[in-house]
Amino acid sequence: MAEPAGANDPVRVRVPAKINLRLSVGAPRADGFHPLDTVYQAISLYDEITIRPADRLRLTLDGVGADTLPTDGGNLAVRAATLLADRLGVPPNVAIHLHKRIPLAGGLAGGSADAAAVLVGCDALWGGGHDPAALAVLAADLGSDVPFLVIGGTARGTGRGELVEPVPAAGPWHWVVAAADGGLSTPRVYGQLDLLRAAGAAPPAALASERDAAASYGDAVGSARDGIAAEATGHTPSPVPDRLLAALRSDDPADLAAALANDLQPASIALRPALRRTLDAGLAAGALAAMVSGSGPSCLCLAADAADAARIAAELTERGVCSAAHVAVGPVAGATVLA
Ligand code: ATP
Repeated sequence: MAEPAGANDPVRVRVPAKINLRLSVGAPRADGFHPLDTVYQAISLYDEITIRPADRLRLTLDGVGADTLPTDGGNLAVRAATLLADRLGVPPNVAIHLHKRIPLAGGLAGGSADAAAVLVGCDALWGGGHDPAALAVLAADLGSDVPFLVIGGTARGTGRGELVEPVPAAGPWHWVVAAADGGLSTPRVYGQLDLLRAAGAAPPAALASERDAAASYGDAVGSARDGIAAEATGHTPSPVPDRLLAALRSDDPADLAAALANDLQPASIALRPALRRTLDAGLAAGALAAMVSGSGPSCLCLAADAADAARIAAELTERGVCSAAHVAVGPVAGATVLA
C-alpha cells in the first residue's frame, strides 16, 4: 500500500494493459452481462497518470487517441476520482493528466486501466489507506476489468470478470501486441458471439474454450471433451483447465501457447475479417500462438523469447498487418504509484 503523499506533491501512477490468456464466455445473465471464467495477465504496455491537488476536478490527456476521449464524467478516470472521493467524504479536487499508450477500444482494457490508476493514485493522495484488495472491491463499480488492473499479475476472473483471485505464474512471457486501426465496441462483440452461437456458427460456451485443447490432445482428452459438451448445453463458462494452470507454472512458453483460448475470437473476426491476416502473419513470423486480445481488435502473439518478440513485431509492421506492434512482457504489477 502506498504512503500518503505530501499535501501538494503530484502522484504518478503507472498502469498496465490486460490480456486474457483464456476467456470462456457463458450465455447472457438476466442483468445482460455475460458470465466469464477468464485468466487475466497484466503486461508491460502502460498508461501513465499524474494526479495533483487542484481547485476542482479536471482531466487532460495526451498520447494515443487522446483527442477522441471525453474529459467529463464519460471518462472512467473522472468517474474513479468521484467514486473514491464520495467514499472518503472528501471533495474530488484533483487535476488528472492521462498519458495514453494503451490502444483505445482495443481489447486491452485501457479505460479500465486508467480508472484503476486513479483509484490507486487518489487513495495515496488523499491518505485513504485502502489496500489493493479493498480498492478492487470499490473498482468493481466502475467496470468488470478494473479490479484486476488494481491487483495485476496473473489472476482468474469470474462473475462478469470482477471477482479476481491471483493465480501462481512463472514467466516472464514475451508478447507482441498488434494494434489495429479503429476499435471494436465490446458490447457489439459479445452481441456478435450470441448471434453466432444462435446460428450454430460458434461453439457453445464451455465447449468453445476447450476446442483447441481437444484438437491438440486428441483422443487423450476424448472423455473430458464429452463432459465439456454436456456442460456446454447449460451455456455456463467452462472452468479454467488444469492444463493452463500447469502451463503457468512451467517455464516453457510452448506449454502456455497450447493452452491459450478466447471464445470472443470468432465474433471479433466476423466483425473485422482482416484480423485473420494479422493472426496468420504472426504465426508465419514464428509466434508460438496468435490470438485476438479480449474483444479485439488488438491481436496477441506469444514469442519464445525477447529476441523473437522483437523480430515478430518488426515483421508484422513491415507486412502492414497492424497499425503498431508493441513488445511487452507479462506478468507485471497492477496500478503502481511511482516514487
Ligand atoms: P474492454 O476490453 O475493457 O472493453 P477496451 O480495451 O476494448 O476495453 P477501452 O480502451 O477501455 O476499450 O475503451 C472502451 C471505451 O471506453 C472507449 O471507446 C471510450 O469511449 C471509453 N473510455 C472512457 N474512459 C476512457 C479512458 N480513460 N481511456 C480509454 N477509453 C475510455
